[in-house]
Amino acid sequence: MIEKLKQNEELWDLFTKKEEYNLTFSDQYDRFPYYLSSQRDVFDPKVSRFLVENGLHPEYPDGKKFAVCLTHDIDVVYPEELYPIVGTAKAFAKGNLTDAMKAPFSRINKKCNPCWNFKEIMELEAKYNAKSSFNFLALHPGEKDFNYKIEDLEAELHFISDHGWEVGLHGGHESYKSFEDIMEKKRRLEKVLGKQVIGYRNHYLRFKVPDTWELLSKAGFKYDTTFGYADCAGFRNGVCHPFRPFNRNTGKQIDIIEIPLIIMDRTLLRDYMRLDVKKAWELIKRLVDKVEQYNGVVTILWHNNTSIDGQHLKYYEKFLEYVSGKKAWIASGEEVFNWWTTNVEKRC
Ligand SMILES: [Zn+2]
Repeated sequence: MIEKLKQNEELWDLFTKKEEYNLTFSDQYDRFPYYLSSQRDVFDPKVSRFLVENGLHPEYPDGKKFAVCLTHDIDVVYPEELYPIVGTAKAFAKGNLTDAMKAPFSRINKKCNPCWNFKEIMELEAKYNAKSSFNFLALHPGEKDFNYKIEDLEAELHFISDHGWEVGLHGGHESYKSFEDIMEKKRRLEKVLGKQVIGYRNHYLRFKVPDTWELLSKAGFKYDTTFGYADCAGFRNGVCHPFRPFNRNTGKQIDIIEIPLIIMDRTLLRDYMRLDVKKAWELIKRLVDKVEQYNGVVTILWHNNTSIDGQHLKYYEKFLEYVSGKKAWIASGEEVFNWWTTNVEKRC
């Protein structure tokens, strides 16, 4: 099937993201944004349409027509507004970040902390017979956006993993271009978790085509879910299925599965597209319906600290209700990876 795609130059260039090689411009985080893309119909998965018309017919468990891949990036566990606790400010002033972190760790009542909601998210997903992936940062004090030490979340990671949900790595700001950084963070997370980590997403969706895929593959990751635009929802390379990326520099397929990111909560709202809640919901439904049409996988990123109209999980539940009503197979990244590689890819 990949050979057939190669013969269609326009779709091949889109699939491999030719325009992201040898970049002249990128945004402040060194990302390739949608506003610089020559591809204007990002809501149309035209590569997937071609694949389906040429023999790709994915099937999912229990005869489900399409899949939804649920993911959460855990950037924040201790909300910033709870920081000014006696002792914390002093420790910060002394430059002792580790001590500064310890104060809120011991003093915040977890029940009153809206970001300490892993269990609540899991219970909500279980209602819909679904599991998800929680991607954790493994930053050191002093690294940009440091908010928690992964070693302090050992019990939480085990709780998540023991119940069948997935723990993945959320790479730091520089990880997407550093093998050493990815490896160091992967090892730290695996040490706390006590098992291998196979899923990855970079913080801020920072990603370099095709280098980040190569680094992740070399580091032993089995799949990635970073590949989507931060500034616009949709299909970054026209694909709404898991796929093996192709490196135009080496002329070879990369040994990793990309489960492309289609919808990130923050893309829709205040940070990028600036849609109101009603319009954002219309777009979500439109993208889900498109993916259903081509038997694809809708990957959604919902942050644990996202709050809309003062509500933490109301809109996330609305999404679960919608896709569950459409009889989607709702799964974690690991489950999608396993299903795709054992049941779909082998038959193509
Ligand atoms: Zn992040």
